[in-house]
Amino acid sequence: MNAPLVIVGTGAAGYALLRALRQIDRDRPLVLITRDDGAAYEKFHLARALGARTRPRGLVLATVEQMAHRYGATILAHRHILRIDRLRHELVMREGRHGYGQLVLATGAAALREPGLRGTAASQALTLGSLADYAYLRSELAGRNRVVVLGGGLAGCELADNLARSSCHVTLLEPANQLLAETLPALSAARVAQALQAAGVQVMTEDGIQRIDQGPDELELTTLAGVRFPADLLVLARGVVPRTELARDAGLAVARGIVVDPALGTVDPDIFALGECAEIDGRLFRLAEEIEAGAQVLAEVLCGRKRRMRWPARLRRLQIESCPVTVCEPPPLAGEWHEAATQRGVRAVFRDRRGALRGFALLGDQVAAAERLLGELGR
Ligand SMILES: Cc1cc2nc3c(=O)[nH]c(=O)nc-3n(C[C@H](O)[C@H](O)[C@H](O)COP(=O)(O)OP(=O)(O)OC[C@H]3O[C@@H](n4cnc5c(N)ncnc54)[C@H](O)[C@@H]3O)c2cc1C
Repeated sequence: MNAPLVIVGTGAAGYALLRALRQIDRDRPLVLITRDDGAAYEKFHLARALGARTRPRGLVLATVEQMAHRYGATILAHRHILRIDRLRHELVMREGRHGYGQLVLATGAAALREPGLRGTAASQALTLGSLADYAYLRSELAGRNRVVVLGGGLAGCELADNLARSSCHVTLLEPANQLLAETLPALSAARVAQALQAAGVQVMTEDGIQRIDQGPDELELTTLAGVRFPADLLVLARGVVPRTELARDAGLAVARGIVVDPALGTVDPDIFALGECAEIDGRLFRLAEEIEAGAQVLAEVLCGRKRRMRWPARLRRLQIESCPVTVCEPPPLAGEWHEAATQRGVRAVFRDRRGALRGFALLGDQVAAAERLLGELGR
């Protein structure tokens, strides 16, 4: 019997590919393997759900059994892949081996741990990168309310806002000199900081955490500037690192992510990669809609068609209640932001050297212009 197509991972990428494949081929044997429980859920609901104290079960869109039944696939949960044996076309797990004909790595990205973090409680710093993280963080929050969030990027700002709205005392620390430094220009970022402060978040830029120690009843945090203060929880929101170990150990090309061509293939003709673990021409997958677009391409490629990934221009709407923010991040190219403030908002547009609109960020009453600007991109 022919070895099946195996997908490693049941996150946004693994399940988007499963759905896309089934639209083309109802019968092909498909196996998905994951080290978690295989439940389907949306990560972008986690911050808001934490604020609302939603039970983890309330976030599950479909259980592993429901996904397997709905899409006619074999899904093996709680199996940790340790190694790819490319010679034998086998995956090596703690529980044994599993053969593959073609293999898709959809292993996602891990939350970045702060490398220099010291102290007796350094291992107690938490992250919010999965449903399991969510369940743990929610249980740790029970009866406690002093939370420090380290990292003022998209995830950190959303988390701080949602926690503050659920009566937590939140301090948001960002080592750079502004929040959202990778996403927004200065004026827009300052408006977001004001909105967070109005929601009760204490915002501290140009500082980070150097130590976290266990005191008698609480954690004692020491910032890089030497400020000491007590807290109940420290949550790290410093970004993610693509999970590339399986690919690297198997001798596949790895840069920041697993290097794939625009058809999502690696240097091994039988191995592909999709989602946050992968990169194409130096560009990482970051948004759910980019992963969805990649899944459509890869499904066709795996069915023998010639297709290439084209990055869609997409909107990211921040979940900060008092300050609506819609961002269309510009591609990595030379250009400049131009910001204009209105009384109740900010319009920031990014133009390349020829003056063409390549991205934008809209705040407050300006967000209504998002769809129109999206249509003007690249003209
Ligand atoms: C808090 C938060 C908020 C976000 N908000 C937004 C948003 O608003 N909009 C947006 O577009 N995107 C958002 N994102 C990003 C988006 O959710 C991710 O890009 C997407 O979920 C990544 O999907 P993935 O399948 O690549 O990885 P993951 O969902 O991480 O899935 C990885 C899978 O691989 C499995 N796996 C890994 N290693 C192994 C192994 N060795 N053996 C077996 N299985 C393995 C895991 O068990 C898991 O099933 C957010 C992310 C977070 C964390």
